[in-house]
Amino acid sequence: MNLKDIISKEVDRRKTFAIISHPDAGKTTLTEKLLLYGGAIRLAGSVKSRKTNKYAVSDWMEIEKQRGISVTSSVLQFEYGGYCINILDTPGHQDFSEDTYRTLMAADSAVMLIDGAKGVEEQTIKLFHVCKMRGIPIFTFVNKMDRASKDPFELMEEIEQVLKIRSYPINWPIGTDGDFKGVYNRELAQIELFEGGKHGQNIVSSTKGSVEDKVFLDLLGEHYYNKLCEDIELLDIAGDEFDKKKFDSGNLTPIFFGSAMTNFGVQPFLEKFLQLAPKPGIKDSSEGPVIPESDKFTGFVFKIQANMNPAHRDRIAFIRICSGRFSKGMSVYHVREGKEVKLSQPQQFMAQDRTIVEEAYPGDIIGVFDPGIFQIGDTLSEGNAKLEFEGIPVFPAEHFARVIPADTMKRKQFLKGINQLAEEGAIQVFKQIDIGIEAFIIGAVGVLQFEVLEYRLKNEYGVDLKIQKLPHRFARWIADSTIDPRKLTLTSSTMIVQDEEERYVLLFENEWSISWAKEKNNSLELHDIAKKS
Ligand code: GDP
Repeated sequence: MNLKDIISKEVDRRKTFAIISHPDAGKTTLTEKLLLYGGAIRLAGSVKSRKTNKYAVSDWMEIEKQRGISVTSSVLQFEYGGYCINILDTPGHQDFSEDTYRTLMAADSAVMLIDGAKGVEEQTIKLFHVCKMRGIPIFTFVNKMDRASKDPFELMEEIEQVLKIRSYPINWPIGTDGDFKGVYNRELAQIELFEGGKHGQNIVSSTKGSVEDKVFLDLLGEHYYNKLCEDIELLDIAGDEFDKKKFDSGNLTPIFFGSAMTNFGVQPFLEKFLQLAPKPGIKDSSEGPVIPESDKFTGFVFKIQANMNPAHRDRIAFIRICSGRFSKGMSVYHVREGKEVKLSQPQQFMAQDRTIVEEAYPGDIIGVFDPGIFQIGDTLSEGNAKLEFEGIPVFPAEHFARVIPADTMKRKQFLKGINQLAEEGAIQVFKQIDIGIEAFIIGAVGVLQFEVLEYRLKNEYGVDLKIQKLPHRFARWIADSTIDPRKLTLTSSTMIVQDEEERYVLLFENEWSISWAKEKNNSLELHDIAKKS
């Protein structure tokens, strides 16, 4: 086989996705079960230990004492039915930060995981919007169906109301009052009843058959059987058709019901997911569309993790491969720096282990050693010195603080440190312009980022910080660059700042003051994220 054919074959079997959810919806449990079905782990339970580590890790001070942020959880790769599946881990809980959003830039589809009893929650909404902005397909898995859940029709309604996306149940739960018996597969008009599974440790077995088969009346009892027949009728009358085009563009979400804990519904989901989820696709660049099957390697940096090993002060740049083949030790063109670089110590993350990767293909994520030359959004390409992918946007910071060095004599190191961290994408830096003196306002998606800032400035630059948290919650970029923000009518609490590229940004305390600014200033146009230029 020639190289192009090999690449094409590998592209066809790749599925790269992220699970988006609110903490506690069951992301770790579902990930573990997908690995279990993929044969990557024999007994479920092993990912839990990874998580226990992660919990300790969430305590930033603790991690730093040990070895830097956990990296093993960044990407998990496993095989199932001939497919090669990459699950990107989106940090949650206290780890929630801009990296969580950036990870979604490397995914080809997303699985939105919802707790059946709680419905659509806050963090899910935020992550959903990023997926929507990218126009990638979004699956919905309603989890914890083994416990009493909201009515499935009500959940569909909630998804439509809150997320403004149409939905289409692929399967339908039987028993939603804590007695989850199985699912009804709408496409095949088939009932699948689950059994066994040793409380989720093993793969479950099931009985399948046509809904018409009266054996299910016996198995389910009249109450559940009749309820199911009513539900099916209602779905067929009231529901949408499954429109693949709408799904592909992120405008229709297929819904699955299941229980990650008991494994019920996990396999039907996985199989349909593999059938519907897109393989790595064409990506636009400054030089036109890049097709994944091309024999030239391209990729982009979507995340940088510092201090993996405190002894070496090294960093790892995470690269999403977009086309071609990566092979160990290869040199590629670093487009922004305008030079060839060797990608050294390439690592890939198979289930729980970090291994040196020999080769990798579009859709895969590799982590390479970064001696301080990479930035978020950098393009790497083989043989084309000009090709650049569109940058990664700056995502909406929700926490802001005024930061100064405790010792004014340390100003030089302070600036160096702040710049370095901003370049790595660990913080967003703004300058306040509406008060005579120069003050730095740091923006962050998650509060952990402030702790990282404080810790790293002290340890790497010898600078103690004074951090004054601000009540602002929203940053909005002024769309028209000719507007002088000092001439705008704003509430007294609105702060005028500039970003690193000297674009004007307004910081607001609440939604109300954003509306007020728009109203009082002739429909002032504001954007909530800045695209990297
Ligand atoms: P994460 O924070 O989203 O990663 O959630 P976890 O996977 O850690 O799950 C949070 C809690 O919900 C844990 O106690 C799990 O055992 C539990 N859990 C996860 N999936 C299910 C499920 O399908 N049913 C029930 N009853 N509990 C579940």
